[in-house]
Amino acid sequence: MPKEELRYGEDYKFIPATSVASGVSIEVLPDLYCHTIQIVNICLVGNPDKKEFVLVDAGMPKTADDIIAVTEKRFGANSRPQAIILTHGHFDHVGAIIELVKHWNVPVYAHEAEMPYLTGKARYPEPDPSVEGGMVAKMSAFFPNEPIDLGGHVQPLPGDGTVPHLEDFRWIHTPGHTPGHVSLFRDRDRTLIAGDAFVTVRQDSLYKVFTQEMEISGPPRYYTTDWNAARESVRKLAALQPETAITGHGAPVSGEKLREGLAKLAREFDQIAMPDYGKYVQ
Ligand SMILES: [Zn+2]
Ligand SMILES: [Zn+2]
Repeated sequence: MPKEELRYGEDYKFIPATSVASGVSIEVLPDLYCHTIQIVNICLVGNPDKKEFVLVDAGMPKTADDIIAVTEKRFGANSRPQAIILTHGHFDHVGAIIELVKHWNVPVYAHEAEMPYLTGKARYPEPDPSVEGGMVAKMSAFFPNEPIDLGGHVQPLPGDGTVPHLEDFRWIHTPGHTPGHVSLFRDRDRTLIAGDAFVTVRQDSLYKVFTQEMEISGPPRYYTTDWNAARESVRKLAALQPETAITGHGAPVSGEKLREGLAKLAREFDQIAMPDYGKYVQ
């Protein structure tokens, strides 16, 4: 396969951010495994007995070795996913993807509207360090923002809502945080992989990111550019009444805590999630 077409943005680098959860793995369900890379989660979906599984999101820059080690620990030596599904293309969700694609030689899928940001054609709007929030918002000016180019290795998710290699999941378009953001949902047991459509730890406080204090929150503020769409996406997910959720940042959550927290976020989105000021707040 033509490897030379794969490249990260020129500003991709190791980001020295961490949390108490870094390196921690949680088996949320027998076929749902969540692992925290510094401050972001990756998900391995599939039963370890069957050896067929999918990786959702690809962690922080320079962490491919960790992701491969976690995968082999869960599924056995030399195991590899059937595909990598991206909830969106922010640097903390595609950080290790090129090394992973080269190592595993597997297809990558993302929403059609996210493709320009994954094929070097468009860059996300700059993160907003002036947004209401704490230290992480201010640090966001240093986050990588140049588009990654996965060339022909990334393909659009099927238009019918199915998720390749995950028979019982469907993808749901949840824009706002990014234009082509998706969440994955399984109706059978109402399992949700939400990406950054909402998160379970506030991303603007360095202290809360580090301690991972549970708080069902809106999408990370410094990166979210369409708050009306973000509100609609949260309401769409709340209406599904998920029983279990893994979000892009923060611990997995289930049951009453999830239902109540998500319903409240949907109801009071403007007060809870939307910053009072910032360049993307109308
Ligand atoms: Zn994001
Ligand atoms: Zn994120």
